[in-house]
Amino acid sequence: MAIDATLPYDDSNVFARILRGEIPAQRIYEDDVALAFLDINPQAPTHILVIPKGRYVSWDDFSARASDAEIAGFVRAVGIVARDRGLVAPGYRLLANIGGDGHQEVPHLHVHLFGGRPLGPMLSRG
Ligand code: 5GP
Repeated sequence: MAIDATLPYDDSNVFARILRGEIPAQRIYEDDVALAFLDINPQAPTHILVIPKGRYVSWDDFSARASDAEIAGFVRAVGIVARDRGLVAPGYRLLANIGGDGHQEVPHLHVHLFGGRPLGPMLSRG
């Protein structure tokens, strides 16, 4: 179910629990500000989630409240993950869902990285 991205941060969300090590994830990259792990239900041969370590509900929350260092570090981390996984030459897609119409399901900012096959048009119709 899609979340309301205007609600306060909920420390019980699944990505907060992954960050705290309470539930497992296939972690592929970590630094001071970001963690990347494989999506549990991949929509492409490569489907990675990159999250900030800070408590941010969505891209909206992050872009409004995060420090410049967090924002720079997070953007760098997404780029590092894509390069490390060999996604740059064939190409890949970034996606961040925000709130109800964006169909965001987990209320901790995450950027999806999709790759490993031609990804087709940007959005499905309907
Ligand atoms: P959203 O719709 O919020 O942009 O995407 C949430 C994503 O999180 C989905 O692609 C879903 O498969 C993934 N996901 C949900 N729960 C878990 C989990 O416990 N572990 C991992 N690795 N991914 C999860």
